This record gives sequence, C-alpha cells and structure tokens, in this order.
Amino acid sequence: MDHTALQAVRSLSIHADYRCRHSGACCTADWDVPVEVPVYRSLDEAWRSGRLHVAPQSRALDPFLVEPDLPDGAGAMLERNQAGECVFFERESRLCVVHRDLGHEALPATCRHFPRLAVHDARGTFVSLSHYCPTAAGLLFREDVDLAIVLSPPAFPPADYEGLAVTADDLPPLLRPGVVMDLDAYSRWEAHMVRRCAEAATPESVLASLERDAARVRAWTAAGPPMAALVDSLPQRPVDAAAPTALAASLAAFAQTMAAVPDDLRLLPDEHSLEDVFTRLVAPQWTTWSGPLRRYLAAKAFASWTAYQGRGLLSIVRGLQVALALVRVEAARGCRDAGRALDRELLLGAFRQADFILNHLAVGEDLAGEWSKAEAR
Ligand code: SF4
Repeated sequence: MDHTALQAVRSLSIHADYRCRHSGACCTADWDVPVEVPVYRSLDEAWRSGRLHVAPQSRALDPFLVEPDLPDGAGAMLERNQAGECVFFERESRLCVVHRDLGHEALPATCRHFPRLAVHDARGTFVSLSHYCPTAAGLLFREDVDLAIVLSPPAFPPADYEGLAVTADDLPPLLRPGVVMDLDAYSRWEAHMVRRCAEAATPESVLASLERDAARVRAWTAAGPPMAALVDSLPQRPVDAAAPTALAASLAAFAQTMAAVPDDLRLLPDEHSLEDVFTRLVAPQWTTWSGPLRRYLAAKAFASWTAYQGRGLLSIVRGLQVALALVRVEAARGCRDAGRALDRELLLGAFRQADFILNHLAVGEDLAGEWSKAEAR
C-alpha cells in the first residue's frame, strides 16, 4: 500500500464526526470476534494476572475460545454468554471492559474498526459505516450538514482501516463488462452518485436518475469524449420517479439477497402480512423520510465495494436499488411488529437490519455477482 495514498482519507460529511456512543449493539450481537495472536497473548496475560476481568454477568466463563479452525492470524475467538453478549461487555455500564481498563489499542481489530467499512485503493482510503450500529444509523437523520464527500474527516485519522484493499494487481472499477474505468473518471462518478443523493427529491428519483446516468456513461467508446468528460456532462436535472405502492418487487430483491447469505446464517422467512402493512403503514409515510433514505443511498454509493467486485456501473446502481428494497421490507416488518405507522425509530431499525444483512450476513462477492446481472440489460 502506498503510504501517501493511505494518508488521504475521505468519508461522507454525515459520518465525518462519528464516535462510539456505547450502544453495545455490536458487543451483544452474538458475533464471532477473532482475536489476533499478539492481541490474544497480551489479553490472556492481562486476564491471568488479574489486570483484566470478564463482565459480572459472564464471570463463570473463560474469555477465550481456542479452536482448531480459527481464522487466519487469530489466536482465539472471544467467548459469548448465553445472551449472545461478549464476555467483556459490561451490561450495567454498557462499556467494554477491555477498552475501559486497557485502552482502545488493546482491543481485537474487529472491535477497533467496527462499524467502519473501508476501501483502500490507489486514490487513498474511503471510510463508510455499517448502519447496523445504531449511532451510525442515527447520523442518517441529521440535517445539520450538507451531504458531500469530505477529505480528512476528524473521526477517521489516517490508519490501516479494515476493509477492501485494492492492490496494483487488481483491476480498477469496470465501466461495463470488459471495459475498465480510469480512477479519475470513477472518482467523478462516485461524487456524482453522492451529489444525486443530495439533490434529488426522493430516493426513487436518485435511483432512476443514476440508472439513466450509468447507461449514458457506459456507452463510452474510445472514439468519443473521455470518460471523465462524459460524467461531467450528465444532465443536472434528475429523473422524477414515484415511490412504489406495493412491496412485491422489494420482497423479490430481499429473497435474492438471502440467496447470498450462508445457510447457517440465513434468516427464517417472516413475511406474514407485509404487503398489507406496507400499503397501510409504510407507503403513506415514506416520502416524509426522503432525507434519511437519500443519505442511506449515499452511504451505499460511497466507498462502494461493488465498484471493484461487480462488473460495471449498472451493478453499483442495482446494489443501491436492492439496499432500498431491503429498507422497505424491514420498515414493513418493523411497522407490523410495532403495530404503528413508519416513524423515526422504526426507520432507524430498518436501516440497521438492512445493513446487518448486507454488511454482516451476505457474502459481498455473491451479492456483487447477482447485481452484475444488471449489466446484461
Ligand atoms: S472486546 Fe469489547 S468491544 Fe469487542 S466485542 Fe467484546 S465488549 Fe465489544
């Protein structure tokens, strides 16, 4: 990795001042957390010498699981209790004992980096967030900053963030199957996607506009204007598009997404009365929440892994369509379970669940493969 490039960190403005507010969501999610060998050695030593204790509700447990088939580089996994809480999560204070008693640097890499999702390429580091973190999801509702890509965000100083590392041996993003983009043109396209999210009136208008825009740019030929100029010449005016009044297409996208989730993680079907609930409790409120929904799309468009794992610009747009479809489905599920119309709390829950599926359950390459079918259109 070129060190100079690593220094250039970008994020969305809405994420730029993120900081952990100790919701505990990640520490109680019943996740496998690998502990790198040197981290394991120092935590184990601290635990054995009495400098580190497990949380009171997990006192009966040894903190480390040393199994034969650990992930590469791991010396152990963190143990969880029956409630799915990490043994170091202190329920009462909602604090991590490792962080509190030994400091941030003592944490396993997964804990240090969550909810950050980075892409490192020759341009630098691009940091987005998983909105499974409720604090990150809350940032989608903010109105105090304009939506934009910012350089050197205070929350993300230069560091080797976990994520997709694109090396000099990897292909740049594809324009369409068989045609690569130059990174300047891709940067302009990425900024264009975020600008559409900032300026279009509704999330559906964002998606319809980007579908049209992607089709225009992917028609590039060597005989015509440069790719970057094509992006710059896209029409300013967004495409008007109505929000769907039915859930069927979103449910189909949800089913496709589940096909990219490994069998042992796949969620049980739970679609009872969702169509009816969507019509009654979600659709009438949907446009009220255009701002957070557009910001959510921006967060999926920026620092996109699909740019590198998919087969062109339409694959990226398809990924955005699916992300919004998942929010619709999860919003309907939340409204059904709560017995009330879509509100801030239920939409925040829908963002969390959509990102839980997209970022933490599904296999990214499989999603990108599915979304790349859009390139055949
Ligand atoms: S070690 Fe700390 S931050 Fe990591 S999962 Fe456990 S409680 Fe959470």
